[in-house]
Order: sequence, then C-alpha cells, then structure tokens
Amino acid sequence: MTPDPATVVEGIDVLRATELETVYPGLVAGMTIRPDAGVHADSRAGAGDYGLSGGSDAWAVSERFERLARGLGFACVAVGRQVHGADLLDVEAAPPAGTWVVGTGDGLVRPPPGCLLVVTVADCVPVYLVEAESGHVALLHAGWRGVAAGILRRGVESMIAGSSGSLASLRLHLGPAICGDCYEVGPEVLTMLGLDADGSAQVDLRQVLRRQAAEIGIPPACVTSSRRCTRCEADSFHSYRAAGDEAGRMAAFLGRTS
Ligand SMILES: [Zn+2]
Repeated sequence: MTPDPATVVEGIDVLRATELETVYPGLVAGMTIRPDAGVHADSRAGAGDYGLSGGSDAWAVSERFERLARGLGFACVAVGRQVHGADLLDVEAAPPAGTWVVGTGDGLVRPPPGCLLVVTVADCVPVYLVEAESGHVALLHAGWRGVAAGILRRGVESMIAGSSGSLASLRLHLGPAICGDCYEVGPEVLTMLGLDADGSAQVDLRQVLRRQAAEIGIPPACVTSSRRCTRCEADSFHSYRAAGDEAGRMAAFLGRTS
C-alpha cells in the first residue's frame, strides 16, 4: 500500500488527495493529520484539533482554519455546523476572507474560487466530489446517519443540477476513515444502511458509499478511496472510536484557487 503523501502547510501536517488534485490545475484536496504524527510537530495545545464544538476554543479553531487555508492559497474558509444529517449548504455567496460558519448541515457545495470548504472528521468519511467540466466541487461529512440519509446522492445531484456537469465527468474520492474491521454496529444501523441485520456486524462505510455511487450511476473508474483507517492508525488520526468524547477532529478540505 502506498501511503498518501504528507506535506507541511504553514506548519500543519496534511495528507494530499493527489487522486483529485491532478483533475485540473488549482484544485486543492486533502486532510490534516495529528501534529504529533507529522514531520513538523506543532506542540501548541490542541494544535491538531479542528472541532468547532469540542474542547478547543472556537477562536483558536478558526485561527487554525485560516492558517491552513492561507497555506493552501485560500483567503476564505467555509464550514458547517455538522449534525450527521444530509442537508447541504450552498457556499456560492462566500465572503472574500475569514472563517464563515455557513449554517447547519453536513455538505458544502458550490464554493467560488478562493473559498476552501472544510468538514471535520474523526472516523466519519470525508467525501470529495469534483466535476471536471464545470469545475464544481462539493465536500461532505458522512457518518452512518448521513450515509443512510442519502447525503451522497444529494451531493451528486447538486453537482449536476443546473450546470454543464454530468455523471461521466464526476470524480468521487473517499478519504481516510474508520475501516470495516474497526467499525462494529448494531442491527438498527445495518437496517438503516440497507444491509442484512442479523445481530451486530462490522461495516465498511466506504464500501457502502461505493455501492451507493454505483447505484447513482457513477462509473467505478471515477471513484477512488484512501485505504487508511483512522482507528487502526490512531497515532496519525483523531478517532472517536479510539478516544471517545476526548477525540479531536481533523479538517478535511477541498477547494479551487482559480
Ligand atoms: Zn481499522
């Protein structure tokens, strides 16, 4: 397995989603990792936590967002108050600079150039969507509830509706998340995900998302997936299953500079 390439941006260690960044010039995609796992460890308290509602001070988190964005070539950061739903937030009217908490929702769509989309994750799947013809991008936060509620379908529809985009030129990437071996869920979750519910079982959310993508009509060749597990590699990633309520959050990001 080839590890995702790690780079340092304004002192922040990030993994780049090179599968996407090569789709067109100016496309930026990736995710932060735990600072103590990186090559340029940032020792400041809470430095690697991007959670808006966790233990870190909101002002400090927004400063972290803006430092990350600046290092990646963006002036504005758009984030949502995530609630494990399937609602999308339209970012078209983003301000020119600063951190913008767009509203309550788990998907961010249609940012203008210069605005970086960020979702925060700790085991949930960061879902990156890029439409190569129109240049549109969308970033989704997908835990089991969002997957069951159809956030992928809604995200894909938002990319295609009212634009020159088509499924044929769509690219879907699934970032680091909890793997199937680490993620045991009860029968109620299996039922919600459309899986056989005979007691508890292990679920690979990225596999469920790939199945949903095929049902939507996205060709398998247009889907890429990180193999890295946030729970198996708890030294590199924040993991809710590993640390519970103490877990920090990584920032998954996607945007276009031009
Ligand atoms: Zn795992």
